[in-house]
Amino acid sequence: MGIYQKLGLKQVINASGKMTALGASAVAPSVAQAMGDAAMDYVEMSELMLAAGQHIAAATGAEDGCPTSGAAAGIAISVAAAITGTHLSLIERLPCSEGLKNKIVIQKGHAVHFGAPVQQMIALGGGRAVEAGSANHVEEAHLREAIDEQTAALLYVKSHHSIQKGMQSLETMIRIGREQGIPVIVDAAAEEDLRRFLAKGADLVIYSGGKAIGGPTSGFIAGRAPLIAACHAQYKGIGRAMKVGKEAIVGLLTALQQYDPENQDASWQRTRVEWLAGELGSIAGVTANIVQDEAGRAIYRVQVRMDEQVTGRTAQELVRLLEQGDPAIFTRNHAINTGVFAFDPRPFHAGQEKIIAARMKELLEKRKEGE
Ligand SMILES: *Cc1c(COP(=O)(O)O)cnc(C)c1O
Repeated sequence: MGIYQKLGLKQVINASGKMTALGASAVAPSVAQAMGDAAMDYVEMSELMLAAGQHIAAATGAEDGCPTSGAAAGIAISVAAAITGTHLSLIERLPCSEGLKNKIVIQKGHAVHFGAPVQQMIALGGGRAVEAGSANHVEEAHLREAIDEQTAALLYVKSHHSIQKGMQSLETMIRIGREQGIPVIVDAAAEEDLRRFLAKGADLVIYSGGKAIGGPTSGFIAGRAPLIAACHAQYKGIGRAMKVGKEAIVGLLTALQQYDPENQDASWQRTRVEWLAGELGSIAGVTANIVQDEAGRAIYRVQVRMDEQVTGRTAQELVRLLEQGDPAIFTRNHAINTGVFAFDPRPFHAGQEKIIAARMKELLEKRKEGE
């Protein structure tokens, strides 16, 4: 019996990808082992935090790094760092930042909800979000005009949640930031490339530990040494409410050491995906295709379309029934409004594709037999 079933919870088969709502990542055995070892011993936390920063720097090419409880905390702590520096009395005053340089300029199409609003994380760090331009149209002038003597930082959100068209590039924001002597912070929570934004000249870049990297619930900030020192210093203030444990730090560092975005072994994914596509394609009224990730990553998924006349169910109904079953099966539903959904094989445990195929047949073929 699984650990969650002992708590009376349903088993979950995750075919949707890295979803915070499903616990983000299931870590590798080596990461879990490292976390267990860390949990069973003591360490000087301040030393661990600084050592972790050096490991983060090595993995990202940054001058220094700072672990966080997640990327959301990373936004709040980065904003706080830009406002207070290492000034202890100011750090202890946050999130009240009256009278301080506290404006954070963000393009309106980047003021998104990732599970909570980005602007709220800015506010937690004592920042006042100033939204430049319109949701689907921002010009360089909008950004320049949003900046004044009270501006503490510019924030760029690199995410599928952001509006992709009509925004100004990160390069433009970095150029403006340089000219005006204002730091540029990048929220790159789910990004795979740990070096690109720093190499472009971003001052602080924020990642989630549980997304692309496949680590435990955690996160980190990488960037320029003086700003990172100011991030570390926030743990004497608002950071205390976002404390990251020794187990999570060690799990994050272990996952970072093993992480290689260039060399993700996709061959076992393909075997499972091919088998699953064959099984689902044999169900009357179901078309199952193997499609590569929209962003061109080496991820192959089974995309499913249904002929409602034959199956007697819409894709939406089927997805809901899969989620309500036991085990509960969660699919990738970004395009469900067009009647298409997909199975993502990356989070599968051995043999779970067999459970999925059996459940799909049960829901669709039984129906046909007049249920
Ligand atoms: C997921 C996400 C976050 C929050 O990350 P956590 O590690 O869950 O705190 C922040 N910003 C964006 C764009 C995200 O996708």
